[in-house]
Amino acid sequence: MTKTAVITGSTSGIGLAIARAFAGTGANIVLNGFGTADEIRTVTDEVAGLGNGTVLYHPADMAKPDEIADLMATAASRFGGIDILVNNAGVQFVEKIEDFPVEQWDRIIAINLSSSFHTIRAAIPAMKKKSWGRIINIASAHGLVASPFKSAYVAAKHGIMGLTKTVALEVAENGITVNSICPGYVLTPLVEKQIPDQARTRGITEEQVINEVMLKGQPTKKFITVEQVASLALYLASDDAAQITGTHVSMDGGWTAQ
Ligand code: NAD
Repeated sequence: MTKTAVITGSTSGIGLAIARAFAGTGANIVLNGFGTADEIRTVTDEVAGLGNGTVLYHPADMAKPDEIADLMATAASRFGGIDILVNNAGVQFVEKIEDFPVEQWDRIIAINLSSSFHTIRAAIPAMKKKSWGRIINIASAHGLVASPFKSAYVAAKHGIMGLTKTVALEVAENGITVNSICPGYVLTPLVEKQIPDQARTRGITEEQVINEVMLKGQPTKKFITVEQVASLALYLASDDAAQITGTHVSMDGGWTAQ
């Protein structure tokens, strides 16, 4: 039977790569995230061209519970339930704790943590009825270790690890698995754009930005690709991964081994 996958924050980066990968398996895809009308049309058409499933776009702002509820209800009514939920939407803000803007704290906790509570609680009843479901939370190496000046992001990513374990235990007998993926530095368009900017502001070469700034803590000294993260998501959604639940898989080039 055709599976349906909802991927939050899938108009760019890791989420888009995961949407492409699931579309390639023939799944119906619900895309979500920001972008201009043109960008969204392009992404929707591209993902639709990769498989035989239906592709739908929903504009929910993952900071807003009522919009998240509408995303989940729309997906469920259109496709008769959600089989695979990938909680991927995420934002970052970097500042020392005493100057960290309260509204940025609230925004990051809402998008990077609370949104997953809202999507998961909406997805579970239909998954229980089908006795099958896959929930994949895109956490981060920052779900396991910290870096200074990223208090909200690190707190939210540690929080998602706890949510993953708790829900996994609650649904363990229902054929539903719940896991996190913890990537290190992934080469997304956002990261790519920062390389020339940082080289200019720091007065160093682009190569130095990559090796001495960005990949300083990533022992392989290579970026993770979005396709590598997507391929892990496909595996976690497979029947072979039915006994992997309540845990995380790191894909961080050795970062958290240090
Ligand atoms: P990205 O900026 O390329 O993509 C983020 C996506 O989320 C976009 O589609 C954007 O429109 C969407 N989004 C942002 N705010 C939203 C909101 N309020 N409502 C709905 N959609 C929203 O980022 P990315 O690097 O692909 O990151 C995706 C996830 O992976 C995030 O959770 C991030 O924390 C995590 N992650 C990224 C890296 C990395 O190095 N890029 C490393 C570890 C974890």
